[in-house]
This record gives sequence, structure tokens and C-alpha cells, in this order.
Amino acid sequence: MQIGSFDDDRATAKSPRRVSVGVPEAVAPGIWRVALPVPFAPGSVNVYVLHGDEQWVLVDCGLGTRESDAALAAGLQALGITFGDLAALVLTHAHSDHIAPAGDIAAQMPPDAPVLVLDVEKERLLSFRQPGSLTDKAQLVKMQRLGGLSRDEAELGLRGMDLLTRLIRPPARERVHTVADGEVIALAGRAWQALWTPGHAPGHLCLVSENIIITGDHILPQISPNVSYRSPDQPDPIQDHLDGLARVAALELAEPLALPGHGDPFTRLAERIAELREGHERRSALALAALRAQNAPTTAITITEAIFQGRLRGPEDCWLALGETMAHLEHLRAHDMASRADRAGVAYYQAGGRKSDEFSDFAP
Ligand SMILES: [Zn+2]
Ligand SMILES: [Zn+2]
Repeated sequence: MQIGSFDDDRATAKSPRRVSVGVPEAVAPGIWRVALPVPFAPGSVNVYVLHGDEQWVLVDCGLGTRESDAALAAGLQALGITFGDLAALVLTHAHSDHIAPAGDIAAQMPPDAPVLVLDVEKERLLSFRQPGSLTDKAQLVKMQRLGGLSRDEAELGLRGMDLLTRLIRPPARERVHTVADGEVIALAGRAWQALWTPGHAPGHLCLVSENIIITGDHILPQISPNVSYRSPDQPDPIQDHLDGLARVAALELAEPLALPGHGDPFTRLAERIAELREGHERRSALALAALRAQNAPTTAITITEAIFQGRLRGPEDCWLALGETMAHLEHLRAHDMASRADRAGVAYYQAGGRKSDEFSDFAP
């Protein structure tokens, strides 16, 4: 559930204005932001309460720790409502800091009130019903081994995420309704258009109503969203994220108000999109330069260490930074600027597209 890019969190000291958790803050007519605590950077996650046409809707619901649940309850109480007043709970993406108590909340909502997710994200949300652990852990370990980590290193690196995932109480299948990309839904007196924006999460949803966009973790004001290679099913998540940024840019919202999953609401949407694009370009260029500096095909973890010299402290750092570096190496490969040969479940990369004969013969 890493929120920001590895480099961002460690290398910059930009921290959002301190917010009071559990206190509703009016951000637009009929829209309140309630910040909830998370025990990791950047310290809080936002949920939004929408009200109009005598309807209340909650967007996202926090990490599900005791502190987070208490802050959410306090926020709703300050607005004079309970979960029983909600007409819907909308989830931007199935990361634990946005969805953990969804099942508990749904159980207290009116029986006909749905939990809404993008169709692409539904099965991922429901997969957390399997008791106790990361449902895609085997896949995550496999990806980390592909990057050059040992099984032990990969499993150690996943421990924190495993613990957070255990906080998730997903809703019952019959409560989960889906929206499709581009669909317009009426929520609390406004028409909202659903926008599929993968990259940070495969089924990430943004919601747009006139000049207002709920951006989830797709676009954050101060941190670059983590975009990692997690599965061959999403072969180029950097391109997915770039395409998603282009989709938001193409809306050309006049005087936009962006409501992010972390940090303060912001208006400099076009500038922020440009910064995030440049950040991806910079990191891809670093990965390519590091590849070129090698005189033999090399693993993603070697490239990760070259990029983040001395900044990887322990297995958790390794797997987070590795996931991002692999995303950039795969992005370079998709653009024919790098090539890859797999040997015994480990990927070896070299600069330049189109595998040379020499590379095909390569044995580590
Ligand atoms: Zn988040
Ligand atoms: Zn997220």
C-alpha cells in the first residue's frame, strides 16, 4: 500500500500542512474532506463526504485501525450522520488505506445502499475476503524474484504490506456494485463521471463533476504516487499512469479543484500533471543510464541499487524501490530502449532494444 514513490518519501522533506484528523473541512458546496490517521508517511488519508438531494455518500473509508475508525466516526458525527444515513460508499481503489473497514460500514448502511467500485477493481477488492493474508503474495514474491531478490528477501520485504492487508474487512459480494469507465452516476445531487486511471492501482477510479475531480491516489499534490511492476497482467504500469494523466489533462477542467487521497485539495492540476510526467521521464532516464553503465546484462535489483545508492535500508525499502525500478525498466523495454532475457525466474536487462544474438546466448 505504498503511497508515494520510494524516492519521494525519503529524499524530500515536503510534508503537507498538518491536518486535524476526524474534523470535517468543507472543500466545496456539499463536499467535506475528513482526514484519517495512517501510521506511515504522509500521516493521513482523506475521505470525502458528499451531500445533496437529501443523500449522503462517502468516498473511501480509511485504513481501519482503531484510530482511523474513531476519526471517521467523529467526522460523520460532526456532520450529524451515521453509516446508516449513507446512500453509497464509493472506493477509489483497493489499497488498504482507502478500503479497510468497507465491509463493516456496508453492514451498517441501508440494505439497498451499494459499495461502488470500478468494474476492473471489483475482484481485487473481493479477493481480500480470503482470510488472513495477502491474496496475491505468491505473485508478488515471484515478481520480486524476477527482479533479483532471494525468496527470503522478497518475503521479508512484504511483511509490512501483509500486516496492513490484514486490516481489510471487505464487503460482501452482493453489496458491491460496479461503475464502468466513462459512466455518469448521480451521487448526492451531482452528476459524476467515472474515469479509469490505472498505474498506481490497476482499477483506480477518479470521479469528475464539473470543475471538481476526486483524484484518489492517481494525482497527489505533494508526493508522486507509487507506480510499481507487480504482474505481467499490467506489463507497463508507467505508461498506464501516463495515459491516465493524459486523460485527466484532456478534460481541460476550467478552474479545477482536485480532491486527492492524501494531502490538501489543490487547484494547480495541469502543473501537477506536468510535474508527475517529468518525474517519470527523469526516473526512466536514470534507469537507462544505469543500464548503460553496466557491461553485462544485469538484474533489476542491481539497477535499483545503482539508482538509490546507499538509500536502501532493509528488505522493505528494497522491494518498494525494486517494484518502481522494474516498472521503469519494463517501460524502457516497451519503448524498445532496453531488452530482457529471463534465466531461472530472474530477469536480466540490457540497454538497447531488439535482443542481440549475444544477449540471447547470455548465461549469468
Ligand atoms: Zn493511499
Ligand atoms: Zn493507493
